Amino acid sequence: MDLRLYDTLSKEKRDFVPIDADNVRLYVCGPTVYDFAHIGNARPVIVFDVLFRMLRYIYGPDQVTYVRNITDVDDKINDRAIRDFPGLPLNEAIRAVTEKTAAQFHADVAALGCLPPTHQPRATDFVLPRADGKSDMVTLIQQLIARGHAYEAGGEVLFDTESMPDYGALSGRKLEDQQAGARIAVDAHKKHATDFVLWKQSSADEPGWESPWGRGRPGWHIECSAMSAAYLGTTFDIHGGGLDLIFPHHENEIAQSRCAHGTDVMANYWMHNGFLQVEGEKMSKSTGNFITIRDLLNDWPGEVIRLNMLKTHYRSPMDWTLKGLEESPKTLDDWYWVAADNKGGHPSNKVIDALSDDLNTP
Ligand SMILES: [Zn+2]
Repeated sequence: MDLRLYDTLSKEKRDFVPIDADNVRLYVCGPTVYDFAHIGNARPVIVFDVLFRMLRYIYGPDQVTYVRNITDVDDKINDRAIRDFPGLPLNEAIRAVTEKTAAQFHADVAALGCLPPTHQPRATDFVLPRADGKSDMVTLIQQLIARGHAYEAGGEVLFDTESMPDYGALSGRKLEDQQAGARIAVDAHKKHATDFVLWKQSSADEPGWESPWGRGRPGWHIECSAMSAAYLGTTFDIHGGGLDLIFPHHENEIAQSRCAHGTDVMANYWMHNGFLQVEGEKMSKSTGNFITIRDLLNDWPGEVIRLNMLKTHYRSPMDWTLKGLEESPKTLDDWYWVAADNKGGHPSNKVIDALSDDLNTP
């Protein structure tokens, strides 16, 4: 069976060839845990669960390693901790927020029929050098400085985007265009407008770790470079996430990982799911069409929500509607009749062929 996947970096659908068929390696950016996950957050979780299951089907369940991180250091988390747990010391309040939210997330996505990834590392466990020697953020930043790809300025450590000739290849943004664009405000301490933060100082009322650059905390992008290398190595098979992560997050992950490790490639296939709207409009709290997974699970079985999500191809924009949800249980009921007649328990070749063609769930 030939699995073909669309790769955002090469902009083409290609045959999937794993680096090691005995250990197929997949990384997907996970949630920032400060509040209930919304239906837009559910899309990559469901889409990449389908991919995880396809890879397990093809290569064997023990031959696939799937890593999805938990971002538990973020300014939104600090704000929520101060609001919800005003009596607790900040570190304890942050832990209370992130543990509660991560547990909610895991319960929600399990109800949507998603297998747990092989590893779900928390960013805060990968800031400082580790006893087990797995990749960590401080060591990666030190490697970037040593190789001439990062510099200290204004209390921060910044990635020097001009030190990487093909920076911008994933998103198709050329450095010159960005430098010239007056819309990006140049902070005085940055060498170039596109340089981004690897490490920043923390004030006394912000979470922080003692580092070679003083007490501070990592930028968002460096955590995925550290945790993917920790579990999957410096070059792995597939990196996934939502379309909104292509720039700057994935562009910067590529820059950090390749420049720190001196490699030409971070991941061989970059996969991105499309945007999700609700009833034809951008989901937002202000327009009242903001839907959490938990809200939906109160009204619908998880399998109905999952099917409704997969009726749209993962790369297409999706319109989440009540009408679509209402139709999904009927489709599922029909399928259960068909499945009951399938004595062997194996999916038909037509189903596998469709899924092998870039996860053509529709
Ligand atoms: Zn990431």
